[in-house]
Amino acid sequence: MSDLSFEKKNAWLSLGDEEKSRVFAMGEAYKNFIDKAKTEREAAALIAAMAQEEGFVPVEDYLSGKVPLAAGSKVCAVNKDKSVILMVMGTAPLSKGMRIVGAHIDSPRLDLKPVPLYEDADLALMKTHYYGGVKKYQWASTALALHGVVMKKDGGRIQISIGEREEDPVFYISDLLPHLAKDQMQKKASEVIEGEDLNIIAGNIPLEGEDKHPVKEAVLKILKENYGFSEKDFLFAELEIVPAGKARDVGFDRSMILGYGHDDRVCSFAGVKGLFEVDKPEFTAVGLFMDKEEVGSNGNTGSESKVFENLVAELINLQEADYSDLYLRRAFMASKVLSADVNAAFDPSFKSVYDKSNTGFLGYGLQVTKYTGSRGKSGCNDANAEFLAEVGRIFDDHQVVWQTGELGKVDQGGGGTIAYILANLGAEVVDCGIPLLSMHAPYELLSKVDLYMAYKGYKGFMY
Ligand code: MN
Ligand code: MN
Repeated sequence: MSDLSFEKKNAWLSLGDEEKSRVFAMGEAYKNFIDKAKTEREAAALIAAMAQEEGFVPVEDYLSGKVPLAAGSKVCAVNKDKSVILMVMGTAPLSKGMRIVGAHIDSPRLDLKPVPLYEDADLALMKTHYYGGVKKYQWASTALALHGVVMKKDGGRIQISIGEREEDPVFYISDLLPHLAKDQMQKKASEVIEGEDLNIIAGNIPLEGEDKHPVKEAVLKILKENYGFSEKDFLFAELEIVPAGKARDVGFDRSMILGYGHDDRVCSFAGVKGLFEVDKPEFTAVGLFMDKEEVGSNGNTGSESKVFENLVAELINLQEADYSDLYLRRAFMASKVLSADVNAAFDPSFKSVYDKSNTGFLGYGLQVTKYTGSRGKSGCNDANAEFLAEVGRIFDDHQVVWQTGELGKVDQGGGGTIAYILANLGAEVVDCGIPLLSMHAPYELLSKVDLYMAYKGYKGFMY
């Protein structure tokens, strides 16, 4: 790219025929993955199932002594069905440090409120509360699916997925017709569709003989008959509205993928695939696939929780004859981490928000980001130059095409990742992920070669 001050390399041009076919094969496998993993729960279950096939053993079997923990042991720890930690135990003890790829499996979406269902103008509607940073207007006038769980008071669980199969119905949020949008079109984009207006249209046929809310009652009857739950059961549910349908190839050359939830199931997928090829490393290799990143990593399924530390403590307790808190502290102090998170790629239609020489490009490989944050790097992890040099060397040694880039121009906005969380424990951490166009939109865009380079880079880092 001639107008850049520092040489960047188009990753497609680095591929031989054999490697190019692997790039496309990985694209197919990834599409299959995100089509089945549209929520954090679905992603956690799928990653755990894939891991089991690769010989990973539930952590409980190690902790109970059923299976001995040794170098090369593969550990799978599922936390509350919403996050997964995979580990391949190293020949060195945990207190010598780990090589961690940390990603998240939650994505921006609309959650049903605890009392969602109501009726207006003979339409059944469901109220939502959006999750994560969304442009609200993007969620209207598009096909939506409903995913999640309803917990029964007897402990049973109803799994819901409506809107993905060809024969399924979908759901819908209305927008104003242009003919009547004179006032709406004058509004700021953040107010064109307001949060309380993200109401899901869910039915139109009234229940005969019902005077009050006949359409709502008819919908409740269908829920009872088809799915076995009542209006009260919404209180004990986590139901998420996501874009309906499958990921698709984009472009005459099929080089790119449009899909929901690339952020950050794509870095998670690259991390999973990389970790599956790690065999008895020196330092324990870890893949973190966490929840709640999009709302600040809080709670007992997010990265701010002690869940990962507790897991490492439990495993140290198996490794060492005399457990001490010092082993745990040393394990994190000596660890090295790639915070695997997508980043904004340069968008030629919106040039003004990017500094072209400090931005990632689609098709230019894995993107390393020294710092994120906003308003003068606030809230960021700023990776140490020494560690950046080490990571750059590892990527070069493994023929990974990589680039650097930060999230847009100074003071244009900003964002954060989980990088600072493990850095606070003393680990070396750098952000490093796949560049996207339209991040946080219902459908995001990535380049297949960047996914492939992320897989190669994560694997090289862990192994
Ligand atoms: Mn992300
Ligand atoms: Mn995000």
